[in-house]
Amino acid sequence: MSQKATVIAVVNQKGGTGKTTTCENLGVGLAMEGKKVLMVDNDPQASLTISMGWPKPDELNTTLATLMGKVLEDKPIQPGEGILHHPEGVDLLPASIELAGMEVGLVNAMSREKVLKQVLENSKHTYDFILLDCTPSLGMLTINALAAADSALIPVQAQYLPAKGLEQLLQTISKVRRQINPKLRIEGILMTMTDSRTNFGKEIDTLVRQAYGTKIKVFDQGIPRSVRAAETSAEGKSIFTHDPKGKVAEAYRALTKEVLHSAEKRRKHQLDQLR
Ligand code: ADP
Ligand code: MG
Repeated sequence: MSQKATVIAVVNQKGGTGKTTTCENLGVGLAMEGKKVLMVDNDPQASLTISMGWPKPDELNTTLATLMGKVLEDKPIQPGEGILHHPEGVDLLPASIELAGMEVGLVNAMSREKVLKQVLENSKHTYDFILLDCTPSLGMLTINALAAADSALIPVQAQYLPAKGLEQLLQTISKVRRQINPKLRIEGILMTMTDSRTNFGKEIDTLVRQAYGTKIKVFDQGIPRSVRAAETSAEGKSIFTHDPKGKVAEAYRALTKEVLHSAEKRRKHQLDQLR
């Protein structure tokens, strides 16, 4: 029996919470564990595309917007179409600013919430994991990501109280689950840019775990703040190549293990239910 890819949307409508950095490093982390990984840049700003080493996304012939356009026009997508290969063993479906126009166009489209899901239909049988790097809004592109995903991974910056923004995101996820995608789970909340040296940072970590930890998984592993992580965005390399022995690489390695562990647990559970 062929296994279908697990699709994880990395989502938070707030900018700068570490979504793109997490996509890149979790993706490469999973590939280092032998998994076939596709990352999808679902943000017109194309930060993931740029940070993976394609600095001029607007010069790419085929991007996510091209493929969404094909779905809207009922044209077939060829296997592997538009997909770029990164030297660290992961694949990328890139974005460009054209995706912004696509989002506007979706408003009047039929099945407008499921266009990304259709784009990914072929890839589901080719990859073990598909990671969706979401744009910082709760607009149509993010709804498309949540409609296509098995789970949502939510990076939360440890410096700010997430309070209202996180509530709104969780409400959106519930709504998508009720109306579009009943199997959507929450993979977990990931504390990013943590700073264990300050009391404030520690307090926020504790507060989030107290407020949400009973209902939602909060990853044991947070991602520490380090200039090393910020440097990778300009390099086209993951933290595993840029600073393999540093604390951020170590943290993303541990996060990768947590994600793999819960995927394995779910798979076993599904098999048990089939017996
Ligand atoms: P988002 O995709 O949510 O907007 P990014 O991943 O682009 O967030 O991160 C926002 C900024 O913070 C970027 O400049 C990135 O390089 C930097 N950054 C990400 N993770 C870390 C970290 N662990 N420590 C320090 N800087 C980080
Ligand atoms: Mg981003």
